[in-house]
Amino acid sequence: MGERLFDRYSRQIFFQPIGVEGQKRLSDSCALVIGCGATGSASAGMLARAGVGRLKVVDRDFLDETNLQRQSLFDEEDLKTGLPKAVLAEKNLGRINSSIKVEGIVADVNPSNIEALASGADVILDGTDNFETRFLINDCAVKTHTPWIYAACIGSQGMLMNIIPGETPCLRCLMETTPPVGTIPTCETAGILGPTAQLIGSMQATEAIKILTGHRESLMKDLIRVDTWAWTLQRFDLSDARLDNCPVCRLGRYDFLQLRSGVMITSLCGSNAVQIVPPNGSKIGLKELASRLSRLSELDDVTHNPFLLRFKLRHKDIDMTVFPDGRAIVQGTKEPSLARDLYSKYIGM
Ligand SMILES: [Zn+2]
Repeated sequence: MGERLFDRYSRQIFFQPIGVEGQKRLSDSCALVIGCGATGSASAGMLARAGVGRLKVVDRDFLDETNLQRQSLFDEEDLKTGLPKAVLAEKNLGRINSSIKVEGIVADVNPSNIEALASGADVILDGTDNFETRFLINDCAVKTHTPWIYAACIGSQGMLMNIIPGETPCLRCLMETTPPVGTIPTCETAGILGPTAQLIGSMQATEAIKILTGHRESLMKDLIRVDTWAWTLQRFDLSDARLDNCPVCRLGRYDFLQLRSGVMITSLCGSNAVQIVPPNGSKIGLKELASRLSRLSELDDVTHNPFLLRFKLRHKDIDMTVFPDGRAIVQGTKEPSLARDLYSKYIGM
């Protein structure tokens, strides 16, 4: 490390657990921040200052006036530009620290891009505001053995949890599925205090620095919930929270990642059938499909009405029902791959 960089980071290097070795590790590492709102702003800013060598910040939104109250990476000049937050974050993080590589990526994180975004990342920081994306991060992180740090803020409350794949409980160990839409408060309905998000972002960045400098023994092992207004701090012991049959971290089933290209395939419980749900907004012309399918010699009994289309595979005990939104049920098999093949063959995907 050059003298100039040593000087720059000297106060952090003097902190014994980091030292020169830790600083080198930081500069050789890559952190991915998903979502650049209040928490993501705070943690990305701190990691840039700390000298994390490569910082990727992904966000799908444009900066809005209501963001300035808490999103510490942005100012009024940024607002005038009308640029996406990821672009502004890249510019502003580069001004904080020009010796690191910052990439601002304007994207909606989804099953088709998350693995590419996460490739090379040594840690993933959750700056999102929804469980759909968190479960997706969880799938990707467990699959690629990448530590990630869950963070959430609402009102004066914040939560934080480290997830080290294979060692600690993952998000699916704690929550079976995403909460129903509309059942959890959002920043839009419950408000949010800027300093609370800043605190959670700082705690998240601290945990990231521990991970990146190889100090896993010092990581917070509990789930933390803090209320900065009421001044309560709760720690939930997670030592027995890892599920024996967790679909993600035990069974290696990545339901949220498998929504890749939007297709969801599920074996229907208790029946010999598989359901296939194609990407949102798929529209199937049942009449056209019926006329196409009725020309195929291997199919029998092609029928349709405005609500569904049905047909049978000749000499096989399999029939398919297709709905106008593209959803299909393949009856007569429990085999997802067979169902998917039949869907591709007859419906197209
Ligand atoms: Zn798990």
